[in-house]
Amino acid sequence: MTVLPLRPDLHGCEPYGAPELDVPVRLNVNENPYAPSPAVVADIAAAAGRAAAGLNRYPDRDFPDLRAALADYLAAESGVRLDWQQIWAANGSNEVMTHVLQAFGGPGRTCLSFTPTYSMYPEYARDTFTRYVTGPRREDFTVDVDAVAAAIAREHPAVVILASPNNPTGTALPLDDVVAILEAARGQGPVDAAAGDDGATDCVVVIDEAYAEFRRPGVPSALELLERTDGDGAPRYPHLAVTRTMSKAFGMAGLRLGYLAACQQLVDALRIVRLPYHLSALTQAAALAALDHRDELMSQVASLRDERDRLVSWLRAQGWTAYDSDSNFVLFGPFTDRRAVWQGLLDRGVLIRVVGPEGYLRVCVGTPAEMADFRTALTAVTSDGP
Ligand code: PMP
Repeated sequence: MTVLPLRPDLHGCEPYGAPELDVPVRLNVNENPYAPSPAVVADIAAAAGRAAAGLNRYPDRDFPDLRAALADYLAAESGVRLDWQQIWAANGSNEVMTHVLQAFGGPGRTCLSFTPTYSMYPEYARDTFTRYVTGPRREDFTVDVDAVAAAIAREHPAVVILASPNNPTGTALPLDDVVAILEAARGQGPVDAAAGDDGATDCVVVIDEAYAEFRRPGVPSALELLERTDGDGAPRYPHLAVTRTMSKAFGMAGLRLGYLAACQQLVDALRIVRLPYHLSALTQAAALAALDHRDELMSQVASLRDERDRLVSWLRAQGWTAYDSDSNFVLFGPFTDRRAVWQGLLDRGVLIRVVGPEGYLRVCVGTPAEMADFRTALTAVTSDGP
């Protein structure tokens, strides 16, 4: 067997990903359980067909039409009107956030996050040779803003990533906390000789809102901070980036379309590091067609939220701890042997995820029938109770 010159830091690493198992009830990767309707499928197929006729040509490299359609969607969803130049997109928000670290991280630079949180963040850092540092969340998984400010002042990170709602805990960040973190990040990025006399930079704060559409009423999106300006009309938070995805509430995980909203200067930095033509013509066409049907594709979000709240109440009624969630999944437990519970559910055809603090499991919200199967299976597996 040949010996390949694998990067030393990749020795022993496994490819990231949850088990892909063909079982009747799949509640493990936070997808929307509702498939697109035949009418939406037909429109997406027709759009892909039209794009196919031009596949001898490279796709639109800067895709202004898609960016404008995403801006329209955000205006409808969050009431925040942004220019298309303030939107960026890539193959999933995983790729978008990798662009952020490619542009702002790198050797000698640091990315800071607060755990437990999404387990891909260290991988973006590893893949861009960025140092990854974490601080803890509080016991209830909220973020201690003073601790975040102290960590920023200590580490001078190029990028702070905070998921809101957080995966795997479902916890959203209050807007005041985001503001406090943005203020704490001013002038606290890495020293950069190109940045002026004192070399001070603002650390980029990424609010990962992959699950934002599932937030409970009254929980705001960080998007509205992008509208705030200083007296002279300049953006007040030019170091804020909000990432979103079509994979979750939008029900298009298979499309691979994630996006980001920020000031144009930040978006233009991402354009430097993206591979040319990174979004295929088929992806662009399918995403535009899907966005045309946003009301229909999002029509199940309200019922998924209700189903989530019912799930939290049911789990608590059984005696388990279940955390309040602003997303489409719930973290619950504790179990003395969580892997045995996971396996017991799988044996009954229900796949969930072993992730998060020791003893806890995460279940994603499916259809009412799938949730009934989950409840039956969990009751059978844990017949001894908590
Ligand atoms: N952020 C969070 C918090 C996630 O949970 C996920 C998906 N599990 C993503 C980002 C990435 O999603 P995608 O690449 O499908 O947009």
